[in-house]
Amino acid sequence: MAHHYRARPDDLAQLGKDLVRRSHAHCELCGKGGRALAPHEVPPLPPRPELEHTIMICGQCQDELACGELNPLYWRFLETVVWSDLPAVQVMAVRLVRRLNEQGENWATALLDTLYLEPAIGQWLDAP
Ligand SMILES: [Zn+2]
Repeated sequence: MAHHYRARPDDLAQLGKDLVRRSHAHCELCGKGGRALAPHEVPPLPPRPELEHTIMICGQCQDELACGELNPLYWRFLETVVWSDLPAVQVMAVRLVRRLNEQGENWATALLDTLYLEPAIGQWLDAP
């Protein structure tokens, strides 16, 4: 039914104000301001969208995410973002660094070696 189909985008839209406040209207990945931002849920998804499972990202980061192969030059800022104290941002960043590692990027490999992750973050990272 249409109601069910629309429920998730509507719930997500309702997080918008809180996300803008939390991110200070800057992309929570690349840190840039002055760009259109959109909520991005970090899997595994809870039954309904939650602020703690959602990050605010810009159009350019969305475009780069849509590429099959990640552009290592673009994503270099993850070197600092992996230390974020926002769990959803940290999980998203570490997953991307893991992909860059799988693509053979040496800096991503070195970064993963230095990374200390709280147990809860490790569980979220590896959740199916
Ligand atoms: Zn961005």
